[in-house]
Amino acid sequence: MTKQFLLAIDQGTSSSRTVIYDDRANVVASAQQEFRQIYPESGWVEHDPEEIWASVRQVTREALAKAGITIRDIAGIGITNQRETTVVWDRRSGECIYNAIVWQDRRTAAYCRDLRERCADEVVAGKTGLRLDPYFSATKVAWILNNVDGARRLADDGHLAFGTIDSFLLWRLTGGAVHATDATNASRTMLFNIHAQAWDDEMLELLEIPASMLPEVLDCAAEFGSTSEDAVDGAVPICGIAGDQQAALIGQAGFEYGMTKSTYGTGCFAIANTGNTALTSHNQLLTTVASRIGGEVTYGLEGSVFVAGSALQWLRDELRIIDSAPESEQVAARTGVVDDVYVVPAFAGLGAPYWDPDARGAIVGLSRGSGRDQIVTATLQAVAYQTRDLIDAMADDGISPSVIRVDGGMAGNEWFLQFLADILDIRVERPANVESTVLGAAYLAALQCGLIDNLQQATRLWRCDAVFEPRMTGDQRDALLAGWATAVARVRGAS
Ligand code: ADP
Repeated sequence: MTKQFLLAIDQGTSSSRTVIYDDRANVVASAQQEFRQIYPESGWVEHDPEEIWASVRQVTREALAKAGITIRDIAGIGITNQRETTVVWDRRSGECIYNAIVWQDRRTAAYCRDLRERCADEVVAGKTGLRLDPYFSATKVAWILNNVDGARRLADDGHLAFGTIDSFLLWRLTGGAVHATDATNASRTMLFNIHAQAWDDEMLELLEIPASMLPEVLDCAAEFGSTSEDAVDGAVPICGIAGDQQAALIGQAGFEYGMTKSTYGTGCFAIANTGNTALTSHNQLLTTVASRIGGEVTYGLEGSVFVAGSALQWLRDELRIIDSAPESEQVAARTGVVDDVYVVPAFAGLGAPYWDPDARGAIVGLSRGSGRDQIVTATLQAVAYQTRDLIDAMADDGISPSVIRVDGGMAGNEWFLQFLADILDIRVERPANVESTVLGAAYLAALQCGLIDNLQQATRLWRCDAVFEPRMTGDQRDALLAGWATAVARVRGAS
């Protein structure tokens, strides 16, 4: 009997998930587990790699049990992961020498400023498509080498390995046999030359990172090795890897030039497919590897907003004016569009296109009649305005999508999606399966193990569940956007 199930692991920022699919990309079973967020100091965010590993093993076991199958029924494994998060381990023991430093961690901000004196932003952008920012892996690796006792010596002796989470999981899943990553994850390290598709010696020198620490970079659909008996009770090929946002673009079947998806989870990440052109942004967007299949690179233009769904969690947990994130939909539906109050959720500075680390959040335009309902509604609206900022930046860089495909937790909020269509003035489409990220990883695995012939088959399996057409008047949209621009300017001026 041929094996027809695929297993996809989505190792996210707040939880690990495993989903089992049949050969028609239907979900057969899934399991999810949260793990600890560690905040050792203000601006520092870490994960315990052992907890991540334990959670991945646990959800994999659970998903298999729920599906009533064993690992031996799996044709191939796909992995998608929180990007940029950095792990360093000793190759001899497999032990990590420090916690995983998470993408949100800002501890290397001063180091980035120092580096900027020695290497211009344009040079970094020209090679890596990124900005000199703590967000990416490179300065996190350097921090570990410079701050963990004995790390530098171990690295010089060739004992240390660096990996993003995909690479760390691959190492553990293969019982230490394989140290590799895929091109999408490599493209988020700030050490990878996205044009040459190779680690960049100059960047390694600038950051004083020995090349011996780096994983081999493979295509997204490739032979990454086989799981070990010890790891998951059986040998199964690992055959697909992509960073979470790139995997979501694949799950959304965003294969044509200009196709754009926007994922609304904790933050919001929009990526437009730019085909084989690595577009250089003049608006501080990032140029990234969207996929590499059969050696062919597809590039993407990416804008990231740090706070999206987490603003709703803030309303729930800190202001305590809603009981749950979905409640915001009823509140907004009864309140209607708010045109005087603006919430700017710049809790951790502003991401693209502003990249203002010092901006902080504000609520502006309050009057005596403003209350909870206006603040909740204005918070949803803020996520749409931030998306508009990204789409405007993309348009200015030469990419103007006519449709945007959405996914992630907030895509469950139809009031938000209608407002988003109104503010973007473009059509918003929501797929039947909003779990695009993990689905993308499954497609990559399916491709490599021959269950599908090409990724275009995902286009046929993509089903639209709801369409939101813009219906707001141009005057109202312009007035709202002018109000948003003023609110952002105040936040930036105040910092
Ligand atoms: P992540 O993968 O980043 O953990 P998810 O895609 O699971 O995020 O989405 C969870 C986020 O979406 C939370 O921040 C939550 O506040 C928000 N969210 C979930 N449902 C809704 C909703 N109906 N309306 C608005 N926000 C929502």
